[in-house]
Amino acid sequence: MECRIGCAACCIVISITSPIPDMPYGKPAGIRCAQLTPDNACRLFGKPERPLVCGSLQPAEEMCGSCNEDAFRLLSDMERVTKPEPR
Ligand code: SF4
Ligand code: SF4
Repeated sequence: MECRIGCAACCIVISITSPIPDMPYGKPAGIRCAQLTPDNACRLFGKPERPLVCGSLQPAEEMCGSCNEDAFRLLSDMERVTKPEPR
């Protein structure tokens, strides 16, 4: 499937552990990426500073669903079940 322009669920909902410009410790879950524009585009698209993980994330039905609300829900569920247990 193609990424839905303007969705940005994966740039908001999930945590990213690698450094991102303006987010040197990565991005916590549920926080907008500092590189996301107000219209939900990536400022780093096509640039070497874009984290590898962002480029390797492929849109898929299981993650993106059929609308943006689906993507937010599915990714929140995914983030919850993959979150490490607190020690
Ligand atoms: S969740 Fe899927 S559709 Fe939404 S921005 Fe990410 S890849 Fe694109
Ligand atoms: S760097 Fe770009 S693709 Fe990666 S989370 Fe931030 S806005 Fe999204």
